[in-house]
Amino acid sequence: MVKLYNTRTRQIDEFQPISGNHVGMYCCGPTVYNFAHIGNLRTYIFEDILRKTLQRAGYDITHVMNITDVGHLTSDGDEGEDKMLLGAQREHLSVLQIARKYEDAFFEDTKSLNIERPSVVARATEHIQDIIRFVKGLEEKGYAYIADGNVYFDTSKFPSYGDFAHLDVDNLRHGARVDEDGNKKNKTDFVLWFTKSKFENQILTWDSPWGVGYPGWHIECSAMAMKYLGDEVDIHCGGIDHIPVHHTNEIAQSEALLGHRWVNFWLHGEFLVLQKEKMSKSAGTFLTLSVLKEKGYNPLHYRYLTLTAHYRSTLSFTFENLENAKNTYEGIKSKILELRKQAKQETSKPRDEELKTKYIQEFNDYLYNDLNTPQALTVLFAVLKDVDLSAGAKLEILEDMDTVFSLGFKDFQEKNLSIPEEVQMLVNERVQARADKDWAKSDELRDKIASLGFTVKDLPQGKYELLPLE
Ligand code: AMP
Ligand code: ZN
Repeated sequence: MVKLYNTRTRQIDEFQPISGNHVGMYCCGPTVYNFAHIGNLRTYIFEDILRKTLQRAGYDITHVMNITDVGHLTSDGDEGEDKMLLGAQREHLSVLQIARKYEDAFFEDTKSLNIERPSVVARATEHIQDIIRFVKGLEEKGYAYIADGNVYFDTSKFPSYGDFAHLDVDNLRHGARVDEDGNKKNKTDFVLWFTKSKFENQILTWDSPWGVGYPGWHIECSAMAMKYLGDEVDIHCGGIDHIPVHHTNEIAQSEALLGHRWVNFWLHGEFLVLQKEKMSKSAGTFLTLSVLKEKGYNPLHYRYLTLTAHYRSTLSFTFENLENAKNTYEGIKSKILELRKQAKQETSKPRDEELKTKYIQEFNDYLYNDLNTPQALTVLFAVLKDVDLSAGAKLEILEDMDTVFSLGFKDFQEKNLSIPEEVQMLVNERVQARADKDWAKSDELRDKIASLGFTVKDLPQGKYELLPLE
């Protein structure tokens, strides 16, 4: 039985799918106006762990994610600049070119972090008719009003508006806010469809019953989640910043339309925070996966770092933490490579089966208890240390755990096994150079070997070990 912390009930609930064995899971996707920062990526790693844990528990998952390629302003409300337009102006590209460029970059990042691609990736610009139908439905039910050409959701018609985020709605409604949209009847109201916005140069627009325009950000997620997952959704996730505005608005418009509860489990990932480095994209500089790679880190070092914290705890990012994660990860890697060698010579041990069951049980218990990855990692280290387990049994357990951790344990073996002929020839030449005590040539060959992605570790008596570079 999987237990998950549900933001809706503010407690850890036993997870049950709405229907049979199938789980519909919707995760808010990226706004593709710039690279994802490593904080965003932490959230996608958490969602990947959630998906793989549920798969491990035997559920069949449909994982839907949107791509916001229109409509998201720099504030999560209706204020600020249009993120996509800003990106286009910055790079002298069209809005669509920007969208595709950063969508591709996003999937490259997630792939290198071993995040499984969602079953459905839905672009907002390709679902405009679904969005329009949704807004029409809200209008027919009396939840929408038109002011100065834009269509707004009337939050006063949805009395439980503040329940999900425990908002003090009265205060919010009467409190002063700068840059306020005078068309709104209530401060918490939000735009469903823009026909008039402050961005006259809005390029992506569509015809609609309310005039030529474009959708608000919140409506896109509700419309696409409903299209692919139906009127009742098992799980909806995102980062915690989405609780008070985006998810609150999603719930209001969806439940207003449906007349019943929409999502059973809401899960939110805590933030990655930077002590020294700045995280905000609007500030111009922010940390991306490419920056980590330029500094010599493998994306999986970062994945490992995120697993060391529970998804509901803030994780402070420093390069010192990342360096520690790298060292531990590399330590695990060397142990696995060693175990592979041992396993070739060693037979099984008497307690293998009993211990395998015990460790897998412990691992599952931690994961199924609200995705406790830090504790699940302690099981990994206990397995590595256990002298009663044979090397082969250890490898089996680790590879099983890695179906969720996704730290690339299996690849360690594959990379090590396939040594290109060209590399092997250089290595042989280097052995000769060292026998001839031609150190300059030996160093030169080491560099050539490194340029082909391998490193040679010299061992006593002219022996060596060849390892793939990070
Ligand atoms: P965005 O592309 O800004 O819509 O954000 C994509 C995802 O990243 C959302 O689920 C956000 O809640 C999440 N997110 C934003 N900032 C952070 C952060 N510093 N740490 C973790 N998740 C974040
Ligand atoms: Zn969303």
